[in-house]
Amino acid sequence: MGSNNQNIEKLDFLIIGGGVAGLAAANRLVDRGISPTIVDAGSYPSHKICGEFISYECHPILKDWNVLPSVLIDTVRFHIGNKSFPFSLPMAARGVSRFSFDDSLCKRALERGAEVLTHTKVVDIAYNPDALYRYSVSLHSGQVLQARTLFIGTGRILNLLSGKPPPKMRYLGMKAHFEGIETENSLEMFVIPQGYLGMSMIENDRTNVACIADIRAVKNAGSPDKYLNGIIETTEGILPQQHLFPRLTIIPPCIHPIPSHPSHCILTLFWLTPSFTPPHQSQEHYR
Ligand SMILES: Cc1cc2nc3c(=O)[nH]c(=O)nc-3n(C[C@H](O)[C@H](O)[C@H](O)COP(=O)(O)OP(=O)(O)OC[C@H]3O[C@@H](n4cnc5c(N)ncnc54)[C@H](O)[C@@H]3O)c2cc1C
Repeated sequence: MGSNNQNIEKLDFLIIGGGVAGLAAANRLVDRGISPTIVDAGSYPSHKICGEFISYECHPILKDWNVLPSVLIDTVRFHIGNKSFPFSLPMAARGVSRFSFDDSLCKRALERGAEVLTHTKVVDIAYNPDALYRYSVSLHSGQVLQARTLFIGTGRILNLLSGKPPPKMRYLGMKAHFEGIETENSLEMFVIPQGYLGMSMIENDRTNVACIADIRAVKNAGSPDKYLNGIIETTEGILPQQHLFPRLTIIPPCIHPIPSHPSHCILTLFWLTPSFTPPHQSQEHYR
């Protein structure tokens, strides 16, 4: 074996990206007696931009996997201008932080034989249809993983495969966890200029606040703080929660890299999110 080959590992199942998609694939595989390898650029537990609202459809499998979140969300209230539109969900949803949820999925996969490589970034993928191990996945360390079967769970942008640079981000995702906000068992959705903001309960009596906004609107306002303060002034339905925002806006935003552990109960993350709700979906809300 030449010196280059020492850096090559052969695998039957390789999963790139250990978010919910990659981790769900891994858990499906371990339940079938297959031991996949997951590589993720980040680590566990860590925070991700997300509304952290788990709709009913996936509850049966999460229950089987013993990772079903306990917090129930049975009502949604849309706040548009000064009007509110409440409705009951036909089947209650659940709330859980991605910090906890992804970690639970990862632990379950690990316990059942998956291998997880964290802080491991994939920099290139090559495909040779004639080889038994058809996919050659290069890591930032210089190591190459060759796989017979490859799952890609890197989020929305597949620029690794297309070879193109990632598209310019148009939206800014913002998220924070708070204590002391009472949303009961409701998802509160506020339609705001060029975006939306949702609040709902997660574990440990905390409330997740997730917001997505057109990056131009945030730039025009001058900063995320000013953008959010502008929302308070102009969005009538949001006023009952106004006490939230002074706390949100006094915290300096944490630009990537995301801290792997929260240093306190309040956390603010800003991210040029690659895996946001597609515009064609989100814009439906604010027509
Ligand atoms: C503001 C906002 C609110 C949302 N609210 C909800 C909600 O309430 N409920 C819901 O179900 N969904 C929600 N979503 C959507 C949800 O977050 C995504 O659908 C989900 O995260 C997609 O999962 P994924 O595993 O495909 O990608 P991700 O969770 O983004 O995971 C991708 C993983 O791939 C890794 N990765 C990327 N590139 C590389 C690389 N080159 N090498 C190695 N690893 C790599 C990353 O580190 C990451 O861990 C929301 C999204 C946003 C932006």
